[in-house]
Amino acid sequence: MVDTQEIEVIRAAKSKISEVDFDNLPFGKVFSDHMLLATYENGNWSRGSIRPYGDISVSPAMSSIHYGQSIFEGLKAFKSESNDVLIFRPEQNWERINKSAARLCMPSIPKELFLDGMKQLVDLDRNWVPTDNDCSLYIRPFMFATDPFLGVKPSDSYTFMIITSPVGPYYSKPLHLKVETEYTRAALGGVGFAKAAGNYAAAMLPAKIAQDQGVDQLIWTDAKEHRFIEEAGTMNMMMVIGDTLYTAPLTSTILPGVTRDSFLTLARDAGINIKEESVSTDMLIESIENNSLKEVFGVGTAATTAQVQKLTFKGKTYDLPAVESRTISNSIGGLLLDIKTGKATDNKGWNTKL
Ligand SMILES: *Cc1c(COP(=O)(O)O)cnc(C)c1O
Repeated sequence: MVDTQEIEVIRAAKSKISEVDFDNLPFGKVFSDHMLLATYENGNWSRGSIRPYGDISVSPAMSSIHYGQSIFEGLKAFKSESNDVLIFRPEQNWERINKSAARLCMPSIPKELFLDGMKQLVDLDRNWVPTDNDCSLYIRPFMFATDPFLGVKPSDSYTFMIITSPVGPYYSKPLHLKVETEYTRAALGGVGFAKAAGNYAAAMLPAKIAQDQGVDQLIWTDAKEHRFIEEAGTMNMMMVIGDTLYTAPLTSTILPGVTRDSFLTLARDAGINIKEESVSTDMLIESIENNSLKEVFGVGTAATTAQVQKLTFKGKTYDLPAVESRTISNSIGGLLLDIKTGKATDNKGWNTKL
């Protein structure tokens, strides 16, 4: 049971759940009945409040709109066969949002507000957690600056919210990615490691240009030379070259994904060679040409394990090994999903059960 003392609960008069087609869930367009909201003023967080999902009213001078002091998180809850609701590693997201907050000069969020608030919210809307394979309840915590003030300075007031959305798969087929060698997602010393709203705005134009060329998403490279592989869209990128699993090391330009960490942990347990090292585009293309590139995939909460089938670099498109042949991503990705959904034993204590 969740401690219910701290958080105020105002229930929705009528559930909207009967209006939702759970067999055709889009990503991120349907929201469950309730949301959580807390405000920060004069150095203190208010008591959290769970209330019916709905619009909020803000000042047009609200500083997050003008200067982007706005951060978010993303995680998922699954329903097991025995009807338990399992939230995957929520304390990792709590730690990470506070790292994002520190970088953006925002206050940290108390653990009870973030975790107990989330558990209580998800428990209240537990009927919204889909049961189908490939579906889950996406949980979106976020915080934004609310001072009605146009001066550029850290806001004194903030709002923290959690909304939840039942979702189906993010990508429905293997991806075609283009190695981006002009635009930059993140530079050393910047905010790439944070889930800062502005990072995603800055990535939209390069992604759109690629999509207009028929590509699904981008592979980001380092800001200085565009020579080293960083991430794939909003996923951490993994490659199997020979018998080694490569992924970029966690610098200030890499978002430290919970999926990345979980995947590496399970791969290490399975005795797979892992190198958290930068892979250059030269090495990547060479490994395609000499057939040592076995697997390329992205990992992230929304996309889970997203296979990459085609890769475009400097105008040339390469076809990658068949998805069925990819032993590491298929086995580890499958095990990870089985742990999340309660089908495999969670001996890491990763799931929070409601
Ligand atoms: C959220 C995100 C990821 C994946 O992180 P998870 O915790 O695994 O969901 C990777 N890269 C970027 C840029 C992200 O925003």
